[in-house]
Amino acid sequence: YTGKTGTQLLNEKIKQITVKEYQSIPVVVNDASSVYDAIVTMFLEDVGTLFVVDGASSLTGVLSRKDLLRASIGKQELEAMPVSIIMTRMPNITVCRKDDLIIEVASKLIEKQIDALPVIKDQQNGKMEVTGRVTKTNITKLLVDLAHDDM
Ligand code: ADP
Repeated sequence: YTGKTGTQLLNEKIKQITVKEYQSIPVVVNDASSVYDAIVTMFLEDVGTLFVVDGASSLTGVLSRKDLLRASIGKQELEAMPVSIIMTRMPNITVCRKDDLIIEVASKLIEKQIDALPVIKDQQNGKMEVTGRVTKTNITKLLVDLAHDDM
């Protein structure tokens, strides 16, 4: 018997879980896409956050539900407005990598008050390829798995 309490064991377990075990598939749009097309994609793909990429599939931006709602207020031509003018852009994007601890991602979601982080792979030119997505839903799934001791 190790003499460890339940809390210590749970703590150790949580600190071993990495992003790759709890990530989802990312949904991306090109930075030349219109705000209108981004709204359609968000509904059809049933996600709350879209990642924006350039022609070389490198991460350039993030679009949240409220970014798209804000752009829709007023008499703007949503079909003529590129997402690149309303997105949150690099280098102001909080990212994670597949081997990061999921608990560190959870801390960033709270600290930055955002719903999702892109999982990225570093490219040779210093740019980032989007390979996944971690949202508050993934973190909630982790909590449920821990409670069921499914791990
Ligand atoms: P919502 O705006 O719908 O409440 P979020 O809380 O996720 O959704 O987004 C808040 C703001 O933060 C938005 O302007 C969004 O573009 C930006 N944002 C979302 N995710 C990230 C991220 N990973 N890094 C930087 N900014 C982000």
